[in-house]
Formats: sequence, structure tokens, C-alpha cells
Amino acid sequence: MRLPKLRELKEAVTAVFSPRFTTRFPAEPCVVPEKYRGKPEFDLDSCIGCGACVNVCPTEALTQSESDETNPPTRKITLRYDTCIFCGNCRDNCTTENGIKLSNEWDLATLDRESTIETCEYELQLCEKCGAIIGTKKHLVWLYEKLGPMAYTNPSLLIAKTDELLTKPPDSPQPPLSAKTAEASETSDFMRILCPKCKCELNIRL
Ligand code: SF4
Ligand code: SF4
Repeated sequence: MRLPKLRELKEAVTAVFSPRFTTRFPAEPCVVPEKYRGKPEFDLDSCIGCGACVNVCPTEALTQSESDETNPPTRKITLRYDTCIFCGNCRDNCTTENGIKLSNEWDLATLDRESTIETCEYELQLCEKCGAIIGTKKHLVWLYEKLGPMAYTNPSLLIAKTDELLTKPPDSPQPPLSAKTAEASETSDFMRILCPKCKCELNIRL
């Protein structure tokens, strides 16, 4: 019986003179490892509002909603990090690879759950004929930049290269092509889109 007691005493004395294995938080900030998976954060320069991250989120911490009552129509992507399990699916499946990252921020406790909601908003491109949602304008521009000149060869692919895509107003018909030469219009001034709903082919002027 005496031997185990001596062993415990030895362990206790050794522990007193050993370095600490715990942190001094909250007296000192807690430094997390480099690849720590903390609060997801959008990078608004890289995020195109495609919604791929919403589809792979297992807890519905990410959701999206569309509204055509706003002018212009918009898509909202909402993050509720109080229901996030920090799995990293959104980051791993991001279309642009940099649209959302898991930060090192871990101290997220709050008494106000509403403060855990963050929203990003993106302008939508609608079909001029049937009003169906084609995608966010940022997504269309991103696709064009990825595809380059090849994009115009297929109407189901999206073509754009401009900061802003302008749809032709329905009540102001475009001038004939000959008149447009005065404006030095070229094929690259347009993008062609196949509406996913009514299959109408649209020419959108940049
Ligand atoms: S880390 Fe996981 S749970 Fe959290 S928002 Fe991303 S996909 Fe959803
Ligand atoms: S998948 Fe990436 S680019 Fe698309 S909405 Fe999510 S964060 Fe943005």
C-alpha cells in the first residue's frame, strides 16, 4: 500500500516543477494553431455569391434568399455562426477557392444570438423574358473571365467582361447593328445567356 502512495507523491512533486500544460486565458490571449478552424469569414473581393457553400453546409449555418422586390433584385447569403460546427465544408467547396475562409477567431460566446448573423448581398441577373434568376452578376463576370473568348461560342455559357453588366431596357429597342458602328460596338460588347427556365437566348449588352 505504501508503494503507490510514494509514486503519487513523486508525480505530484514532478508536476509542481514541470512547465504548465494549460494556458493562462483569459489573463493572457490564447494563441491558436495556424490551421485552427474558427469563425467563417467571407472575402467580399473573392466571393461571387454563387451559393455553392450554402449547398454543402451541413447545419444550415449558411442560407441564401432571393428578392426581386428590391431594385436591383438581389441575393442574400447569410451566415449564422451560432449554428456553425466549423467543419470547413464551405471553404473546401468554394467556387473561387477564396470566397470564404475559416479564421482564427474562436471566442464567439454571446448572450445575443442575433449578433451572430452576418449577411452579404449580391445583384442578380434576371431573364428579360420570363424573369427567372440566371445568377449573380458577379458570378457571370467571373465565368467570363475564366472562359475568355471561348465563352461566346456556347449560348449556355455566360459571357461578360466588365465591372458592370447592363441589360437592354425592354422599352428601348437596341439600334440596328450598322448604327452601332458609330459607337464602335464589337462582339465583345455583349454576352449571350441561355435562360435556365424558358431557354430563351438573351443578348446582354455590356
Ligand atoms: S464551417 Fe461547416 S457548418 Fe460552418 S458555415 Fe461552413 S459548412 Fe457550414
Ligand atoms: S461558394 Fe465561395 S464564391 Fe460562392 S457564395 Fe460561397 S463563398 Fe462566395
